[in-house]
This record gives sequence, C-alpha cells and structure tokens, in this order.
Amino acid sequence: MGCRDASAPSAGAYRPRNPRASPLYHCVARHAEELRAAGRLERSVEARTIDRFVECGDPHFGFARVRCDACGHDYLLSFSCKTRYFCPSCHQKRVLLYGEWVEENVLAPVAHRQYVFTVPRLLRPLFSRRRAWLGELCRIAARLLGKACRVAVPGAKPAFVEFVQTFGDLVNFNPHVHVLAADGVFRADGMFVPLPPIPEALLERGFRRAVLDFLVGEGAISDELRERMLGWRYSGFSVHNQVRVAADDAEGRKKLAAYMLRAPLSLAKMSYDAASGTVIYRSKMHLGLKRNFQVMPGAQWLELLCKHIPDRYEQLVRYVGWYSSRSRGARKAKGVTAVVTTASGVIEVLGEYASRAKLAWARLIRKVYEADPLVCPKCQGPMRVIALIEDPAVVRAILAHLGLWQPQALERAPPVPARAWPEHANLPLTYHPLPDIA
Ligand SMILES: [Zn+2]
Ligand SMILES: [Zn+2]
Repeated sequence: MGCRDASAPSAGAYRPRNPRASPLYHCVARHAEELRAAGRLERSVEARTIDRFVECGDPHFGFARVRCDACGHDYLLSFSCKTRYFCPSCHQKRVLLYGEWVEENVLAPVAHRQYVFTVPRLLRPLFSRRRAWLGELCRIAARLLGKACRVAVPGAKPAFVEFVQTFGDLVNFNPHVHVLAADGVFRADGMFVPLPPIPEALLERGFRRAVLDFLVGEGAISDELRERMLGWRYSGFSVHNQVRVAADDAEGRKKLAAYMLRAPLSLAKMSYDAASGTVIYRSKMHLGLKRNFQVMPGAQWLELLCKHIPDRYEQLVRYVGWYSSRSRGARKAKGVTAVVTTASGVIEVLGEYASRAKLAWARLIRKVYEADPLVCPKCQGPMRVIALIEDPAVVRAILAHLGLWQPQALERAPPVPARAWPEHANLPLTYHPLPDIA
C-alpha cells in the first residue's frame, strides 16, 4: 500500500450522520439505474445530482483529512454533495443558514407578510417543461405587488423577496411563488410606511390575466382557452395574504424565509419498502387528491423528485425594490443602512441588529453541523484541513489501513427489471387516512 504509517490518520472517520440509513438513499440506490436505462431522466442535471447524492457523506468517494496541531488528533471528513432541492441534509443546511443570512443582510426590522401566487392544475405541466417560465411568474407577481404599492404611496419602494417553489405537500409538481414582503413601503429617506395587506382579489385578477396573456404569447395555450379561463368563476389561480410576522419577531421572519426555501421532501415523512420497491410519503391533507399520503413505485417517486431539481444556474430567489441588491448597495455606499425609521416612530439601528444576528449565526453553525468539524474533540483546539483525498487508490489505501474499506458499499443494488413496472404502477391504493405528520 502506498500509505505511510507516519502520515496515516489514526482516529477514523468523522461521521456525524449515516447517509446510507435514509429511505431516500435506499430508493435512489435501487431505482436510479432503472430511470436512467429507461431514458426517463430528462435533463443532465438530474443524472448529475443523483450521482453526487449517492456519494454524499461517504468516505469511499473521497474526504478531507483534518488534524489538530496541538494534540495530533486527526480524522477523515467525507465530502457532502451540496446539491440543491434534492439531498435533504445538504439542502437543509443551506435553508438554516439562509434564514440567518437574509435576516442579517436583507430584511428590515419591520412587519412582513407572506403572499402566495398559485397557478391552476391544468397549466402546471407547462412550467415543468419550461422552467424559465417560473421566472416569468415571479416577474408578474413583482409587477402586481409593486404597482399596488406605488398607487398607495407614490415614489416609495416596496421591499420583498420572491421564492419559486415547484412542489406541493405531496411532492407533486405544483409551481407557485412565495413572497416575503415588508408590510408597507420605504420612502427614499428610509422612512417605513406601513400599509394594510394588498387585497387577494385584486392580485388574483391581475395574476390570472397576466399569466394567461403570457402563455398565449408563448404559443403554449390557445386564445380560446384564455377566454374560457378568464370567465371561470374559480379559475384555479389564487393569491393568499393571510400570514403576517410582527416587526419585533426576527425568529418569525427567519422561519418564514426558511419555509419558503425548504426542500421538496422531508425524510421524516418518507418510508421505503425494499421488498416491493415502494415509497410511502405522508403529509398534510392534499385538497385536490383528497388524501394525506402518496404511494408510488420507487422509480416513479424518484422521477417526480427530479422534476424539482433546478437547472444549473437557475435562480429561485429574487430580491425586489428596497431589498434588491442594487438598492442595498446604494444604501451601503451612502451609509443609509444604519437606521430604519418606521412611521410609528420606532428606530432600529441595523448595525447593532447585525452583530446580534452574527452571534446567533455562530450558534447555529454549531447546531447544523452537530459538532464543529474544525474544533478538536480531544483538546478543543483548532483543527485544520491538511489534505483533500480524491484519488481512488489513495482513498482505498487509507480506508483499508483504518479498517473502514467496505467494497460492498460501492455496489449499487440490482435494478428492478423493467417489466416489473406496469404492475408496480398499478399497485392498489387504499385510502385509509393516516395521521398527519406536520
Ligand atoms: Zn448531500
Ligand atoms: Zn487536539
């Protein structure tokens, strides 16, 4: 073996979690080949994401060597896949850190409101095939909200963050836009003017017309369908504005931002039956499907999950008005960010606010990573990455030296034969209600 004892790590691998224990891992390991072989991974990003996910947290696919200079303690830190909207572990880390980041860097300490813009079931598949149109939904929602604000207080700026979500509670494809909006507008001098909620009915009418016009313009639907849908009493377009977070509720703002950035899938709601190759997913009651769970053959489930993976450079979060990076940059240059004056006379110094958030952020990083991988568990001294090991021969040599080499871990389970498919797909569904898992 090309591994010299003097340089070999002694203490084994740092394993904060066991990635192979998750039902999603089992499902992917078993069914990914089936999808690939059948040509059902539509975009290259889907195959790439799956490949990275199965290697996430597994030292057989490479690791960093981390060492404490003070006491000599060392261990291996596996690479994580960092995929978006797929790996529950990696995406969740991003979500928690985002809540802290956006509160510290973007959101003003004023009341906020959630707006949700939804499109009818009939039109949803169009957005699955043309993901760029999700951005158009955001632009339409921003235009409507901005216009309502300008009418109310001419010259003032709205402030909001828009999030595209492509999934419903049962991981079904349901494209919609969440907006985290300051419940009011900012005047150029930094004065915040609170406003009542923008009426749902006003936004819904405008959203319906603009989306239908857009789809007709793109040739995606006919004029006749647009006219029919404009006439429908319940078109399936909807806008909700009921959720509000008070000005002093920083935690509430972070939670709402995290909710809007969340992953399509929660591992706590998923189970995988290896014998039948079937996934059961339990969630809130789905109004359209009239049930609170989904039962699916593993490959079909995986195909559904893949629909939620964004394209490589696809932007799913947008900052508008007072929160746009341009406005933030201009305020920073002029030093305006320091103070926000609200119409009720409350003055918040954002600088102090930011330092409080930084402390909370440091706490959170420890929580997210379970233990700080760069603090020595033996002597509490700082640890550092001394090498990144990616060469398969070296990976193997080091793992073998430590007794951690498990070649069977690299073999994927045999795929379910293709002919088993139709029977799986027709698996009888029972509609006994299961308890909700929130
Ligand atoms: Zn991952
Ligand atoms: Zn140490």
